[in-house]
Amino acid sequence: MEKVSKYTRASTNGKLISCPKCKNQERVYHFNWCGLQCGKCKEMIDKPQWNIVSVNKSSKINMNVNLTKEEIRLISKSLLNQKFGKREMIVAMDIFEKIEIEK
Ligand SMILES: [Zn+2]
Repeated sequence: MEKVSKYTRASTNGKLISCPKCKNQERVYHFNWCGLQCGKCKEMIDKPQWNIVSVNKSSKINMNVNLTKEEIRLISKSLLNQKFGKREMIVAMDIFEKIEIEK
């Protein structure tokens, strides 16, 4: 797994890094720090020890999906019933809105 280095930069969406001790994932929006306390195991981890969580490209949503409005409504509805965090929900709804607009 790739480690954080002095060349690691966060994008506007931040970057996911994982704790080498407990594998807890943290999202960071900048790397102007020398060490970071893990939110889970409370361990103070030096910057080069953090692992970069690589985003699996195939897990990205294909925006060229061909869904009917009814299908989008059903997916949105089932998403609402899941225990998504508020942020994930907003992102998901945003994507569905975009699909609907593009139609
Ligand atoms: Zn940890």
